[in-house]
Amino acid sequence: MAATETGAQTFNNFIDGESVPAAEGRTSDVVNPADGKVMATAPDSTAEDVERAVKAARAAFDEWSNKTPAARSEALLKLADALEERGDELAELEARNAGKPLQAVKDDEIPALVDNIRFFAGAARNLEGKAAGEYLEGYTSWIRREAVGVVGQVAPWNYPLMMAIWKVGPALATGNTIVLKPAPTTPLTTLRLGEIASEFLPKGVLNIVAGGNETGATLVTHPDVDMVSLTGSVETGKWIAREAAATLKRVHLELGGKAPVVVFDDADLEAVYETIAGTGFYNAGQDCTAATRVLAGSKIYDDVMNGLAEQAKGYKTGDTMDPDTTLGPLNSSRQRERVEGFLQRRPDHAEIAAGGSEPDLPGFFLEATVVGGLRQDDEMIQKEIFGPVITVQPFTDEQEAIKWANGTPYGLASSVWTQNLGRALRVSKALRFGCVWINDHIPLASEMPHGGFKQSGYGKDLSMYSLEDYTVVKHVMANIGS
Ligand code: NAD
Repeated sequence: MAATETGAQTFNNFIDGESVPAAEGRTSDVVNPADGKVMATAPDSTAEDVERAVKAARAAFDEWSNKTPAARSEALLKLADALEERGDELAELEARNAGKPLQAVKDDEIPALVDNIRFFAGAARNLEGKAAGEYLEGYTSWIRREAVGVVGQVAPWNYPLMMAIWKVGPALATGNTIVLKPAPTTPLTTLRLGEIASEFLPKGVLNIVAGGNETGATLVTHPDVDMVSLTGSVETGKWIAREAAATLKRVHLELGGKAPVVVFDDADLEAVYETIAGTGFYNAGQDCTAATRVLAGSKIYDDVMNGLAEQAKGYKTGDTMDPDTTLGPLNSSRQRERVEGFLQRRPDHAEIAAGGSEPDLPGFFLEATVVGGLRQDDEMIQKEIFGPVITVQPFTDEQEAIKWANGTPYGLASSVWTQNLGRALRVSKALRFGCVWINDHIPLASEMPHGGFKQSGYGKDLSMYSLEDYTVVKHVMANIGS
């Protein structure tokens, strides 16, 4: 990392254990979304860089995949310690690059991602399977779980470092080697991750190549990449799945969400207002599990609208380094335009109860916004907004609530709010989502899977399931005579 004449830092790719600029020397500006100013430049990598990184990953595969789980675990534990030690530095870089309130990154993201790696480190030593045995007379069978090979990983911009950790952790733990491409607007902490991890990993095991969608496309279609893992939009996921079909690469997809929050009349409404606003506006709503689509029983609909509107008005935009700031900007001007497009196209029956405008600030801010009066087939209900916008719809009964909650193409996360235990369990069973929270929304545990149903993708992050996703199962059968 170096500073240019304008003071912007220059970041490099991390390939084969070395910090290197893009082969053709191309760079792109990296902007701080809170002030719109260029804070750094990052490589804009081309096919030559991808080629070099894939070659390095392939060359490193034998050694890394043949290490004992204990050795891989130890490397991951050291990485976790190093990230924890550099937590403040990484939090500041992440906050500036992604436009997040610094305090939230320090308090929430860094401790969580350090815990995630420690879990992956432990999990590396705990893969399980069926007992070896004589399932056919005269033969002994056993199962091996082996690394898939070279994994091409593509990450989004909403939690750049944490999403990178969710990808590299299970893949490294199980002996794969990696080429990871961060999102073009937020490559900085991931490039730092490559550098820091090189202290503990053999060269070529983890390669970071920065660039845009074209760089990503080159990586995921590379013939020597065995598996592709994407966290991103449904459209990109579908494109990758189609392209992967040509060589039948394994595909792991964590895609968008549109989390319903089903609030029954008997819910603890104070907890609803606080938690739904807290998790709907967290990270300016740029969260695939954000509590953005509230379905409220018709008797409490007005209360929920007012309660959420009050909460929205309490959010403070401003300097993301200031601990009092609770709502950061959108990640880019493009993303803000996208979110504002939904608001501009809203139907006449929609009612904005709070927010809806840009505050008078530099950067890409948008007020915390609550929109009511919407109908099930409205665009704002059906499509992921990915911004600080919570919608509220009234429902008449449990069946309607379930039908509407399930009635979008997404299936990542959901929550149900009620004091009635039977109803909570019934609804949690009926909701077609990879996660259902009861009387809460968004908490995650490293041991528990995160991943979608339907068009939210397939493959799980976190938990032992993620390690399994990065392995192939081999049956070995020995003729032992009779
Ligand atoms: P995106 O799909 O546009 O981009 C994601 C990444 O894919 C970026 O690095 C981008 O450069 C790359 N990319 C785009 N086109 C590509 C292609 N053809 N080939 C290879 N790579 C390509 O998504 P985004 O707008 O950056 O991210 C936001 C989306 O990610 C939202 O839909 C959000 O819900 C989703 N997301 C999902 C999860 C989850 O765990 N399910 C977590 C975070 C974000």
